[in-house]
Amino acid sequence: MNTSVDWRAVDLVIFDVDGTLYDQSRLRLRMALEMAGSALAGGGARDLRIVRSYRRHRERLAEMESETFVESQFVDVAADVDATPELVRKVVAEWMDRRPLRHLASSRYAGVERLFEALRRSGRGIAVLSDHPAEAKLDALGLKSDLTVSACDPNVRRLKPHPAGVRHILSVTGTLAQRALFIGDRFERDWLAAARAQVPALIRSRLRHPRCATFRSYRSDVFAALGCDLGSASAAWGSPPAAHAGAAYHAREL
Ligand SMILES: [Mg+2]
Repeated sequence: MNTSVDWRAVDLVIFDVDGTLYDQSRLRLRMALEMAGSALAGGGARDLRIVRSYRRHRERLAEMESETFVESQFVDVAADVDATPELVRKVVAEWMDRRPLRHLASSRYAGVERLFEALRRSGRGIAVLSDHPAEAKLDALGLKSDLTVSACDPNVRRLKPHPAGVRHILSVTGTLAQRALFIGDRFERDWLAAARAQVPALIRSRLRHPRCATFRSYRSDVFAALGCDLGSASAAWGSPPAAHAGAAYHAREL
């Protein structure tokens, strides 16, 4: 398995969230149980149809690289399940944003917190790029990033594998593509988005990939150097361009 990463060449690590920082299968199982309980109590069957349709449409919009997914994601689902876009938005916010929060801490992958600490200690930047708003999820996971970007943000508006989010993070942090590393869990989304922005990627997977490094857990040897003999990042990526100075970005002292 390819697990080689030259950490001396990494100033900024960009993390995906779902399935990368926590066990998404475990969370989905818990949410399915909660939703089944809600269905028994009445009203949950409709919500289940909306959530399933929303997930399906999101995948399709990502593959289409839609420029209008922020608006159409709710309209398309509403048409599919015969509901109003407002109801779809409300159900998605409830079942995909709010309710999962209480399960996130217990679903966090072992070693993630230590990796964040090691990266911070070594002077490297930490950014997060998610296809969903991620601030509340990071809080629930007990993790802090220097920059958190969502595909829904006004200056991104593209789902992975479009590289807009990755490029936006490089621009805001002033990082060269070859000095960044993307850590994700999906080859066809995370690796592809990173590759299209010329950013190396490291994918959490049991499968091999001919073109990118993979790892099975945060205890993998690929991260060992961060806790041992890895020096500080060689180039400061500190000051954001003036146009972005007000963004949710916190420059570090290097
Ligand atoms: Mg993911």
